[in-house]
Amino acid sequence: MQILVQKYGGTSVSDLDRQRHVAKKIITARESGLSLVVVVSAMGRRGDPYATDTLLQKAAEFSNDLSTREKDILMHCGEMIAGVLLTGVLQAARCPAVFLTGQQAGILTDNNFGDAKILQINPKRILNHLQAGQVVVVAGFQGATPDGELTTLGRGGSDTTAAALGVALQARAVEIYTDVEGVKTADPRIVAGAKTLPAISYNEVCQLAHEGAKVIHPRAVEIAMQGNIPLWVKGTFSDTPGTLITAYSELAGETAHLKDQTITGITHIPDLTQIQIPVAEAETLTLPLQVFKGLAHAGISVDFINVHPHLMAFTVKQEVCKRAELILREMGHQPVIRHNCAKVAAVGAGMTGRPGVMARIVQALSEQGITILQSADSYTTIWCLVDMADMERAVRALHDHFNLGRH
Ligand code: ADP
Ligand code: MG
Repeated sequence: MQILVQKYGGTSVSDLDRQRHVAKKIITARESGLSLVVVVSAMGRRGDPYATDTLLQKAAEFSNDLSTREKDILMHCGEMIAGVLLTGVLQAARCPAVFLTGQQAGILTDNNFGDAKILQINPKRILNHLQAGQVVVVAGFQGATPDGELTTLGRGGSDTTAAALGVALQARAVEIYTDVEGVKTADPRIVAGAKTLPAISYNEVCQLAHEGAKVIHPRAVEIAMQGNIPLWVKGTFSDTPGTLITAYSELAGETAHLKDQTITGITHIPDLTQIQIPVAEAETLTLPLQVFKGLAHAGISVDFINVHPHLMAFTVKQEVCKRAELILREMGHQPVIRHNCAKVAAVGAGMTGRPGVMARIVQALSEQGITILQSADSYTTIWCLVDMADMERAVRALHDHFNLGRH
């Protein structure tokens, strides 16, 4: 049995016409002799009646105190509605199909409500249905603890469901269908001329995803990489081949054109707050440790960390900045806060060992009059912190400067 896992995102299943289109794609793949497992997200985006954000908004209208356990049960509904409706559309097209919740599909997680990790998958029930010739539609983004508590997997969790099922079922591939044609050189909402990458390695796409390219969830990539299952990102409403994600060693032929590419893509993460704390001479050894411990204790993650003898700087997400400031003040520090920042990153395995990349980035941004508030780099990524107001221009400037839109 050759198994193919397909995942359809929220906009791909948002109404009956789109679901019919999706059903046609599923039926075509099945007719080519493959056994299909189809993972779905909740229908539509914020504001659409059965989207996850809409359900959460409804809950907030009733109470600000709903516990995470019950929120997870509520959030199960979105994927269940989308999956049941798609199963109906398949059945109406005379395609044998069955719907399973995450729990019924054998997805076992820990009990970290709202952001649970998959512990194990028991694929027996899915395999039985596939054996019987049915398309198995599975609710994405959800699972259950070994004692039956319902959990969700965090933002982008349906990608994770698809990748984990792909590995558990030893699928020949996992296809992530979405509203863009594949992984692009930048978010097409910001750079209209962003190019679809024909192929990219697990490592590089993981880096792009961690740095804000939300077209695929980094956890999904990590799972597929560990199981060595090829991932594809494809457009639901496009006939182009999309982006193949696999091990670097298997990409040799596919990415010959990328060999002398320094930068693969530009990413952005909005809504950050920069915090700077002056460090007195006598505190250089103790203060940074105290600050990071205090914030970690409060469950606040920090990023973009620069520690110098007289100053330390880092960023937190805007939504926790008030709490971070309060904690720091309670500890007796005088943090200097800068709201409305964004992180822009240039990612590319090709920059390793290549001199002059940072100089080009500084040049591209300064030509646009964009101030770099902070920067950092690793082997494959250079990050710059900029004002939110400069974010989109910075992404476009870097994309242009490194010629990423050329064919
Ligand atoms: P889905 O609901 O199908 O999971 P998402 O909204 O999670 O879809 O992801 C698709 C979106 O990701 C696109 O609409 C696009 O705006 C955004 N995106 C951000 N960066 C990139 C990138 N580098 N390549 C492609 N899409 C990107
Ligand atoms: Mg997504």
